[in-house]
Amino acid sequence: MNIQQDLVQRDLKYIWHPCSQMKDYEELQPIVIDRGEGVFLYDKNGKEYLDIVSSWWCNLLGHCNPKINEGIKNQLDKLEHVIFANFSHEPAITLCEQLMEIIPKGLTKFNFSDNGSASVECALKMAFQYQYQTGHPEKKKFMCFSDAYHGETIGALSVGCLDLYAKIYQPMLMSTIHIQAPDCYRCPYGKCRDCCNAECFEYAEKAFEQYAEETCAMIVEPLLQGSAGMRIYPPIYLKKLRELCDKYNVLLIADEIATGFGRTGKMFAFSHADVNPDIMCISKGLTGGYMPMAITITTDEIYNAFYADYNEGKAFMHSHTYSGNPLGCSAALAVQKIFREEPILENASKRAVYLNKKLNDALVGHKNVGEIRHIGLINAIELTPDKKAKAEYPSEQRIGYQIYKKALEKGLILRPLGNVLYFNPPLIINEQEIDKAVSVCRECVIEVLGGD
Ligand SMILES: *Cc1c(COP(=O)(O)O)cnc(C)c1O
Repeated sequence: MNIQQDLVQRDLKYIWHPCSQMKDYEELQPIVIDRGEGVFLYDKNGKEYLDIVSSWWCNLLGHCNPKINEGIKNQLDKLEHVIFANFSHEPAITLCEQLMEIIPKGLTKFNFSDNGSASVECALKMAFQYQYQTGHPEKKKFMCFSDAYHGETIGALSVGCLDLYAKIYQPMLMSTIHIQAPDCYRCPYGKCRDCCNAECFEYAEKAFEQYAEETCAMIVEPLLQGSAGMRIYPPIYLKKLRELCDKYNVLLIADEIATGFGRTGKMFAFSHADVNPDIMCISKGLTGGYMPMAITITTDEIYNAFYADYNEGKAFMHSHTYSGNPLGCSAALAVQKIFREEPILENASKRAVYLNKKLNDALVGHKNVGEIRHIGLINAIELTPDKKAKAEYPSEQRIGYQIYKKALEKGLILRPLGNVLYFNPPLIINEQEIDKAVSVCRECVIEVLGGD
């Protein structure tokens, strides 16, 4: 038995992998990764994998980035962790100062947690308590988009609308108001993404008319509904939503966990719309994908509603053991340093144009490619059995999964979202690596679906 096989047996004996039907592992065994470098991962036998999905959308600047490694190592010999209530440390303080220079305007107060879902829970509780403490105890509900994804904990699932993750838990979830999200590929108004006036915003208008009085906040994935299949909608929608939220005193929560730190071509997706949220959640790219850390950032106005004498009971009594972890902060600081020293966003923008062109050249004419959409370096290939009708493959066929398995054999990590294949590579990917990923993707699509 080679070393990979031995580790697989030992893995399957104990490990329950996330988001997996473990029975699938009988056929597709876990790949035991030994090391990473740049956009590549290497398994125990030295086989190379191109990590086109940034290891669950978090690796921002490559695996084992020397500058981030160094930042963490330096911190490690000084302080690994300290209670963050009443105590602080320089990495957290400096990190907030540096983030202040790049986040949307008006956001000024930083509440740390340790994963994306936790930062969403924090945002929901903050919004609820803000409304309560400013004279609106009737505002108890949350609005969210259909097909939204905001994480896996109970509150985050409640503002998510993907049956795959939430359906079974419905009896446990709080009831929320779902607004029909923009669906530009199958636009009910027959418009296109770049030429519309967000006609579908009328769904939001109607929902606000009916429910805004009892609503404390609306949470959105700005411009990109990631887990829904990398659905992309135009900035004008966010502009309109900002106005509507102001009109009805509904807070606007931006879940920038997937979109933050340059994924959409700008530092944050909200920057495309030139409007600001009241609360913003960031995680994933924050530490370059190195350490679990998240931050819920809000305005002075919201912060001030909690600021009072202790006995008034207005404090935000929310905490996580690893809030503000110094190692996480040191990784995040290293990421910020790289953004300051290197033209990461400029280069990523050039590569984004290159990648989209390559993908279009390779696949847009294929009989089962309905659409190739992109924002920043993120590209999604929507597969359909019938281009004209924009039909959907039945999920039992697991078309995306079959292509995923083929791609793995060929050394490309092309995890699908249902019938959508996507590229969401580290921002440092180069043209040669893009060429490789696109050509393997094309081969696999043709092997599974035929055509040329
Ligand atoms: C990943 C993600 C989350 C959840 O973050 P976790 O760290 O996995 O809990 C929430 N919202 C969005 C948009 C995400 O992409």
